[in-house]
Amino acid sequence: MARLIFLGPPGAGKGTQASLLAQHCEIPHISTGEILRAAVAHQTELGVKAQGYMDRGELVPDQLIVDLVHERLLQPDAASGWILDGFPRTVSQAKFLDELLESIGQSYDCVINLDVPDETLVKRLLSRGRADDNEDVILNRLHVYREQTAPLIDFYSDRQQLRSIDGNQTVDQVTAALKQIVQA
Ligand code: AMP
Repeated sequence: MARLIFLGPPGAGKGTQASLLAQHCEIPHISTGEILRAAVAHQTELGVKAQGYMDRGELVPDQLIVDLVHERLLQPDAASGWILDGFPRTVSQAKFLDELLESIGQSYDCVINLDVPDETLVKRLLSRGRADDNEDVILNRLHVYREQTAPLIDFYSDRQQLRSIDGNQTVDQVTAALKQIVQA
């Protein structure tokens, strides 16, 4: 059983690694970005509301996200563990997560921060070709990360719950480092 939060800038490899580790641990990989992209693709009410923010590389308003996470964590497959990827993204989302987990009688085991230098991030994002991966939007997402998400590194390390991993290695090396943390 594992309950993990993945932190890190866009392009750090969170999605790839969270997916591999979730398969390994047989727990769901919960990516708020993926859930939102599916909602946009299907033009659901959530998707229609979220699309403009995503296209600009801005964060979607908290209320849309917290309802989505609440609903997802209540699904039966999430009872045995989960990896949260892309949430929380702000200190207020992190506080909401604390309250939500308490209300459903859960807690997380650790927060994993994937550390990658900026040059590598931009290179990786440009080669990915997602709708929000053009250069202006990428720079905005990195800016939003620094302003709104990076403060979570201190938030969780103050609670001694943060483990940093060098994300500037091969996919296999990062996966191996993650498995060690989970098995420890
Ligand atoms: P990601 O796939 O995690 O890079 O997310 C893609 C986009 O979805 C982000 O640029 C945001 O617009 C939106 N998004 C994903 N997760 C969140 C979140 N926790 N809070 C606000 N917006 C989010």
